[in-house]
Amino acid sequence: MLHVARKKEFCKVLGPGTRSVIWFHGCTRRCLGCIAGTMNEIAEYETCLPEQLADWVKHNIGIEGITLSGGEPFQQPLDELATFLMLLKQNTNLTDLSVLCYTGYSLEELRKQESAVAVLQYIDVLIDGEYRQHEDCGQRWRGSANQQFHFLTERYKKQENEWNTTLERQIEIELDLNGKLLISGVPSKNFINKLTTELQRRDVNVDFS
Ligand code: SF4
Repeated sequence: MLHVARKKEFCKVLGPGTRSVIWFHGCTRRCLGCIAGTMNEIAEYETCLPEQLADWVKHNIGIEGITLSGGEPFQQPLDELATFLMLLKQNTNLTDLSVLCYTGYSLEELRKQESAVAVLQYIDVLIDGEYRQHEDCGQRWRGSANQQFHFLTERYKKQENEWNTTLERQIEIELDLNGKLLISGVPSKNFINKLTTELQRRDVNVDFS
């Protein structure tokens, strides 16, 4: 089963266009300043079959693609992750969806594992590398400069230069039904600390993704 910490049907700040985002639960790394730290630690997550996840995506009408984040997508059962993506590509209504994926592993590391390669075949752009606070330079869709866009298909290849040079951070903030604050996207360095401090002073529970 895939462990999903959070899903968002429509998001405009984690890749091109409007995207459905899936944050997988858990990551064994402990990168200093990781923006998903809270989500990696909390025990709550839902377990999903690949079919259930694909069905959820199917109902998100009008999206350009999906973004996989975490947590660490490549610490999920990779056969199930591959099945999920295969189901999207097999569904005639979903074959045009693009797939972006964040990972703390390097592409080279992943290419050494057969099970990871089975997942990579469905990914258009991989954003690899762990978050390094001291290399956080404000690039769009990336947490730190060491993280690279790998254009694994032609889908966005023509935009490679633009993607690599755009300095623009955007986030989306929403309240869930329990009054919990949810943040999506890659915020500016120190933004989350300042926001958390201010909100905790006001007794607001903060969850950051
Ligand atoms: S690899 Fe990514 S999700 Fe895992 S701790 Fe590092 S920055 Fe966070």
